[in-house]
Amino acid sequence: MRRIEMIVLGITLVSALGVCAADTFRAGASKGNITPELGGKIVGGFKPFPATHVHDDLWVRALVLDDGKTRVAFAVCDLIGISQDVSDMARRLVQEETGLSAGNMLVSAVHTHSATSARGNRELFAVNPEMDAYQIFVARRIADAVRCAINNLAPARIGWGTASEPRHVFNRRWFMKPGTVPMTPLGGTNDVVQFNPGYLNPNLVKPAGPTDPEICFFAVQTPEGKPVALFANYSLHYVGGVRGADISADYYGMFNDRIQQLLGADRQDTPFISILSNGTSGDINNIDFSKSPQKLPPYAKMRIVADDVAEKVHAAYRELAWRDHVTLGAAFGEIELQLRRPTPEQLEYAKAFLAEQTESSKPKPMQMVYAKRIMEHNRVPATWKFPLQAFRIGDVGIASIPFEVFSEIGLEFKRRAPFKPSFTVELANGCYGYLPPPRQHALGGYETWLGSNRVETEASTKIVDRLLDMLTRLQKGE
Ligand SMILES: [Zn+2]
Repeated sequence: MRRIEMIVLGITLVSALGVCAADTFRAGASKGNITPELGGKIVGGFKPFPATHVHDDLWVRALVLDDGKTRVAFAVCDLIGISQDVSDMARRLVQEETGLSAGNMLVSAVHTHSATSARGNRELFAVNPEMDAYQIFVARRIADAVRCAINNLAPARIGWGTASEPRHVFNRRWFMKPGTVPMTPLGGTNDVVQFNPGYLNPNLVKPAGPTDPEICFFAVQTPEGKPVALFANYSLHYVGGVRGADISADYYGMFNDRIQQLLGADRQDTPFISILSNGTSGDINNIDFSKSPQKLPPYAKMRIVADDVAEKVHAAYRELAWRDHVTLGAAFGEIELQLRRPTPEQLEYAKAFLAEQTESSKPKPMQMVYAKRIMEHNRVPATWKFPLQAFRIGDVGIASIPFEVFSEIGLEFKRRAPFKPSFTVELANGCYGYLPPPRQHALGGYETWLGSNRVETEASTKIVDRLLDMLTRLQKGE
């Protein structure tokens, strides 16, 4: 072979290899322990109490995908919520330390009610808030888990699918017989619906909204077919039923454990990572109020739910078509929304309530919480910017919303999304209260009260339109 031909052949080979390497689809996953110290306050209810036992550890679970051009990261924390500062700090650290764009990384919380708070002890719309020690710890651990996932990047193939588990999702808001909805802690009621009305309440009429029984998921495995990671999404608030003041990742942790077992992915050298994110479950819980309560020991119910959801995912997993390469895309945006203000009547009620509370007053934790939130909303700025994200994973569309989102919003997004399947990860990059659609605002109930919900009535319509626009642009490759 002449020298010139050898050089040409060499260049061709190098560029061919180069194209191949640049086009290789890779995945990596990892997790980091975020279990808090005992004594921290468990924040699931209106009266926080100190944690006295760890039933199962809390984790941040991270998955990184790379199509050779675009890299995206997902980090889901076993927490009830994370403040935007924690997500901002974690994403900034990852960007500084790895070069991965902060906008290509999603940080969300599952919404276990048996965890301490990573939301900080301050007003929600404070400017330049100070983070507490646990928030800083969690942000660092999120960043470390994503860094380790990047370290684990290796050639992979990907598949996705959907399953359905309708037996464990119930709309917790009910239409009640006229005149039977109790007074609100805001000093009055025009509510037509009641949340968590109680088992076999004789005034039950019918649920006030739908449920979304779909489980969407995507999974990555090695080119030889060994499971690497799985990312699933189900729209269930949480299950609960822990013992006493335990810390636990609720059914999310049990699902991850069970699917790993079903996939035969235990004790791998690079551990298999399962992630169950929360979908749109702001009005969905695990309780059928039309029936008598089941008497079950602690942790039994969440185990049942976790096993059932895992088995549905496992059945769908076995039917997956695996792809050696897919296109990834990510978009980050902010949406400016009006913050709600109290009415003059609400303000007067809150002031009077707070003024009459003394050391010896009978504690009224719910009224106290709402009176303080009314006063807080009298001081908030007129508008606030909220983070939104859209991702494309092959033919899968993912949206992120920093609220507890009602199921009908998620269903509408799925219906209109340009990618099938598509789903929403709620409580992502922040935690700003409930997000009911306008129709549910009109019906009232706990999730619509000022302080449960903090943004304008039309917020969900604007958010869904914006997310669909972001996804459409990703589809066009813009
Ligand atoms: Zn909750």
